[in-house]
Amino acid sequence: MGNIRFDALKIAFSHELVESRSGSEVEKASKVENNERVKDYFARDVFTREKMKEYIAQDVLNQLFDDVDNGRTIHRDIASVVAIGIRKWAIEHGATHFTHWFQPLTGGTAEKHDAFFRLDRSGALLEEFSGDSLYQQEPDASSFPSGGIRNTFEARGYSAWDPSSPVFLIGDTLCIPTVFVAYTGEALDYKTPLIRSTAALCHAARDVCAYFDKQVKHVHANLGWEQEYFLIDEALYNARPDLMLTGRTLMGHNSAKSQQLEDHYFGAIPARVLAFMQELEYEALKAGIPVKTRHNEVAPNQFEMAPIYEDVNLANDHNLLVMSIMERVAEKHHFRVLLHEKPYAGVNGSGKHCNWSMETNTGINLLAPGKNPYQNLQFITFLVNVLMAVHRHNGLLKASIVSATNEHRLGANEAPPAIISVFLGKQISAVLDKLEHATAEEAIIINAKKEMKLGVANIPEILLDNTDRNRTSPFAFTGNRFEFRAVGSSANCGAAMLVLNAAVAEQLTDFKAEVDKRIERGEAKERVLFDVIKRYIVACKAIHFDGNGYSDEWKAEAQKRGLDCETSVPVVIDRYCAPDSTQMFQTTGVLTEAELRSRSEVKWETYVKKLQIESRVMGDLVVNHVLPAAKRYQTMLLQNVLAVKQVFSTEEVASLNEMDYSIIRQIEHHSGAILDGVERMTEARHKANRMPDERSKAVAYHDHVLPLMAEIRDHADALELIVDDEMWTLPKYREMMFVH
Ligand code: ADP
Ligand code: MG
Repeated sequence: MGNIRFDALKIAFSHELVESRSGSEVEKASKVENNERVKDYFARDVFTREKMKEYIAQDVLNQLFDDVDNGRTIHRDIASVVAIGIRKWAIEHGATHFTHWFQPLTGGTAEKHDAFFRLDRSGALLEEFSGDSLYQQEPDASSFPSGGIRNTFEARGYSAWDPSSPVFLIGDTLCIPTVFVAYTGEALDYKTPLIRSTAALCHAARDVCAYFDKQVKHVHANLGWEQEYFLIDEALYNARPDLMLTGRTLMGHNSAKSQQLEDHYFGAIPARVLAFMQELEYEALKAGIPVKTRHNEVAPNQFEMAPIYEDVNLANDHNLLVMSIMERVAEKHHFRVLLHEKPYAGVNGSGKHCNWSMETNTGINLLAPGKNPYQNLQFITFLVNVLMAVHRHNGLLKASIVSATNEHRLGANEAPPAIISVFLGKQISAVLDKLEHATAEEAIIINAKKEMKLGVANIPEILLDNTDRNRTSPFAFTGNRFEFRAVGSSANCGAAMLVLNAAVAEQLTDFKAEVDKRIERGEAKERVLFDVIKRYIVACKAIHFDGNGYSDEWKAEAQKRGLDCETSVPVVIDRYCAPDSTQMFQTTGVLTEAELRSRSEVKWETYVKKLQIESRVMGDLVVNHVLPAAKRYQTMLLQNVLAVKQVFSTEEVASLNEMDYSIIRQIEHHSGAILDGVERMTEARHKANRMPDERSKAVAYHDHVLPLMAEIRDHADALELIVDDEMWTLPKYREMMFVH
């Protein structure tokens, strides 16, 4: 019998046998044989500053590094010389092609490969890679969404080298990290505004640091991401059209054993998965990504990888690169990696915690307590300003992480709710509490030698939050950084990081303006700092919440506190163009009003497309898989009832067939409801598609299509429970989550 599901399972198991002698094992063995150590292959495929010295003249490099480190544009002459060095290195290492590697608003990354040669007039082949090819390209990527900034018929977008992120090799291709902008200058990607936001943060934070330490010339933001993902056997994946086309299961009854026992979390990593992880780490390390930790996550077949944190722009490039390396390596191991935030209903989804901090060129982490009173006052200043920024822009920060896919994760199964609040932990809460209630004389003591001491706020040198880690908080302080946990596993972290950087930059600028005004009036600096901080602590109290974010009481409380409690994704997207957001983006120079409008358009458009695809796939699945299986089983039962009637007496039949009758009726009920649901869903979709603009379409999909999908799913899942297992064509949760 041609049963997809069982054929798939057979293939799945045969892969397991093959795996024991497959490529990764062989590769691993050879690595050990060659005695390769991490330091031998770390960043082997990256044109690092160290390697540049071998290929590029020192004076050119000095100029390049100086420009990069100070955020200046690279001169074309410099780019031309650098390009020659890059080409030489790349070709020596087997490259035949190069690509500008950029981050379109669709998410993920995009590439267009060109060969390193051209033909001269006589038709002879010349190896070529000019400064211009390095510097700027016109990818003719006219079909990338631009939200109306770039009319498709103009198609004039170009990608330009971001020299702050090193070029690297993937196989035979040299990848050049680039920004992607319209000819009129508007950003069409995530990288451009992320770079602008780091510049804004750098200036604003440096100016505030000047109150405490004049040595600080430069501040940058760090990002350490934690990437969660699911693995699934390739054959099972191929037997689930919903996973293949939408990245998540649109139906499927929960497995009897799921994550209740929490026996997967930090458990032993299965051998086949370990082989995948080892190869993934090897590839990531070669690409210069400092991956450090790996472990099982809470849900079955869910895992996490995390690197050592880096500068936010580079860290984000590395995350995007890792996502594509993961997909490639998984295929080699006959797995598919699921980066969707909620591949399975009812079990934990996948997030990408973004650990964020600010660091000075003098090596001080501005979000860690310091060694002297000035450093501690500086720490409190930055901490409280971050709280203020998150408070002012909590709706916008939420907008930066919502999507059609993350929508299913937020607020369910251990994911933070769709309300942004900040967790501080006992120690910091106590410090802020003391400051709030202290007088200036109690808080800041200046002795006869004009040395400052912090009176009430006794800040321990190390704040480690191991005792009261709160997994329910979307934005948690964890000792020396903030952890933005609401970010989704498939997201470009840049979207969230650029909002955070910009919001904090704006806040620090406002803070400085206020402090300076009072210092100019003759007030003592330390007193003014204390006064303003104290006022801020009170002003942003609403954002601070250390309790249980999952509870219904919190939702009511958050509403009372005036926090943004909207849960509809299309409506949350409105926050991008709210007056306070527009102003914030404008004053920090991160995004113009036109860019914000176009970004919102793209977000609505993407939302609509994703739901449209899901809804269609759902229709196909129930009509072509679920209903035929249910009908076949029902027919079998009906035939059985008829046969029983012929064989047994009337009295015997009455007692014998109760169960069959009941199942026959249930199948009839659920099948009818599914058909009716599909009809209403199709109608709702058609109505939504006729809406005049992207926002109304998105709202209609959210309000009218999504609920019908949930309704249909319930009936399909009920049928899965009663229909003969052998007749059910789709792999079930227990198979997808437990086969590895
Ligand atoms: P967790 O307990 O959340 O799993 P880890 O120690 O594994 O925490 O770290 C998670 C991530 O946080 C890692 O990428 C790590 O490099 C990063 N991280 C640690 N300190 C900082 C910091 N000061 N700024 C930014 N990221 C940091
Ligand atoms: Mg973490």
